[in-house]
Order: sequence, then C-alpha cells, then structure tokens
Amino acid sequence: MAYIEAEQLTHEYKKRNEEGEVIGSVPALSGVTLSVEKGSFTAILGANGSGKSTFAKHLNVLLKPSGGSLYVNGYDASKEENLWQIRESAGMVFQNPDNQLVAGVVEEDVAFGPENIGLPTEEIEERVSRALASVGMEAYRMHSPNVLSGGQKQRIAVAGVVAMRPDCIIFDESTAMLDPKGRQEVLNTAKSLNKDHGVTILWITHYMEEAVGADRICVMDGGRITMEGTPREIFREADRLKEMGLCLPQITELAMRLKAAGMDLPDAVLTREELVAALR
Ligand code: ADP
Ligand code: MG
Repeated sequence: MAYIEAEQLTHEYKKRNEEGEVIGSVPALSGVTLSVEKGSFTAILGANGSGKSTFAKHLNVLLKPSGGSLYVNGYDASKEENLWQIRESAGMVFQNPDNQLVAGVVEEDVAFGPENIGLPTEEIEERVSRALASVGMEAYRMHSPNVLSGGQKQRIAVAGVVAMRPDCIIFDESTAMLDPKGRQEVLNTAKSLNKDHGVTILWITHYMEEAVGADRICVMDGGRITMEGTPREIFREADRLKEMGLCLPQITELAMRLKAAGMDLPDAVLTREELVAALR
C-alpha cells in the first residue's frame, strides 16, 4: 500500500443556521482518488476553492471523510483510535507561520511538540538540534521568532514539524505569504528534507513554478483530481490548465510563445537551463 491512499474520498461541509441546526451542505471533495508513494515529492495544484486544503486537512484528521476511504501510513483515517498515529505519521505546515509559532525563543518553539509528547530532555535537545540543522537555522536557536524574516519563520515552523519525526510533511500553501526569497528558502527546505532525509512531501501550491521540480503533479478542480502526471506531462496541457484557472510556469509560457512564433523548440520546456540549451 502507498503511504497515502485515498479512494473516492468525499467531503461535505455542513451549513448550519444560527441555532446550529444543519440546513444544507457544501460539497468540497467529490471523489478524490490518489496514492502517494513513500519518499516521493508530489505537488498538488489547483485554483482557489478547488478543495486542496480540505483534502490536506483529511490527511491530518482535522476533518473526517463524508464518504470513500483514506489511509495514511496504513491507518484508516475514519477511525477515531488512529488519530494520533496519523498525526505522528504526517505533519502539516500551514500558510501563516505566525499561527504556528508559539514560543518566544526559536529553540523553545521547535521543542514544543517533543515536550508535549513527554520525551526525555536529552532526546528533545537532540531533536531540536537536528531539526534546526535540517532547515539551516541552527544559528538562530536562541533568537526570538519576531526578528526573523517570513521565510525564516516558516523554516522554524517546519523544524517544529520535523522535530516530531514524521515520515510525511504536507505543506498547504506554505509560501503564499512570503516574498520570492522566502518562498525559495522554504521550497528548498522541503526539497532537501525529501532528498536528504527521505521525507515524503505533499506540496500544495498555486505557484506553477514551485511544481516544476516535483516527481509528480496532481491537479485539482471542483473537488476532484482532474490531471495527474510528471511536470512535463502536465505543463504540456496549457489549454486544459487555463480552463481550470491555472497558468504555465513563466519559462514554459515563454518557450511556448517562441515555438508558436516559429522557433524549433520541444514541448513543455520547464527550466531556464532547458530553454537555453534548446535555443542553442
Ligand atoms: P482550496 O484550498 O483549494 O482553496 P478549500 O478546500 O479551502 O479549497 O475549499 C473547497 C470548497 O469548500 C470551497 O468551495 C470552499 O468555499 C468550501 N469550504 C472550505 N472551507 C469551508 C468551511 N469551513 N465551511 C464551508 N465551506 C467551506
Ligand atoms: Mg487552501
């Protein structure tokens, strides 16, 4: 079984009136079938409202399936008793690092999770050091998070998740509030956790550029996965992406226009290097 295995997963948010009675429902996932291999880097793309966050929340049991099935690390997400095993298996990094940082000093922040599960002091120490090293923030151990840049704060939030030693980390638009430099820092951190530490990554984004280096891309639209493939397979489909409110990475778009203007270029050029090589 894959590390994450969703089969016809559905979710409906309940609409309630002021008395709290259910008066209707909003369908947010309408049959998501997806499997994510252990050790892979999967990007999930989709316009606003396509169901990305709703799906992500199921992976951390912040929401429960209305229908279908979901297994994380072999644990059935519909079963109450699996909650902690699933949360230990898959950690989440959200959009706003300020909501995920709780302490006044970086090292306390990273230690928060391990302390909460009652690990011995030495083990906490070691986890904090390793987690900070894995996000390249050792030098800031004794700093206040308040003095850090957005990208640095988000890396501290990532370290807090890493300190819990999950096999998988889900980034739900974790770069959306950052400047380009911060975005690159956080993306590079996720890539290095994947390559150097074997952490399975689910990278949810609406920046096309951030999906170029993924092993696989899934595109969501209207609560379903509508496309799935390698970055090259996905970014070849400019028209389909446009229909779903998405665009191409800038370089891919540029190459496509040059091709349309008569230049001899391959389909779906993904990086600057590829474009330069093809133009030679
Ligand atoms: P995305 O993360 O791709 O922007 P979401 O998963 O947040 O999409 O939203 C999917 C759909 O579910 C949207 O139609 C959204 O309006 C709806 N939705 C999201 N959260 C709630 C909620 N708490 N209550 C009711 N509807 C919601
Ligand atoms: Mg979202």
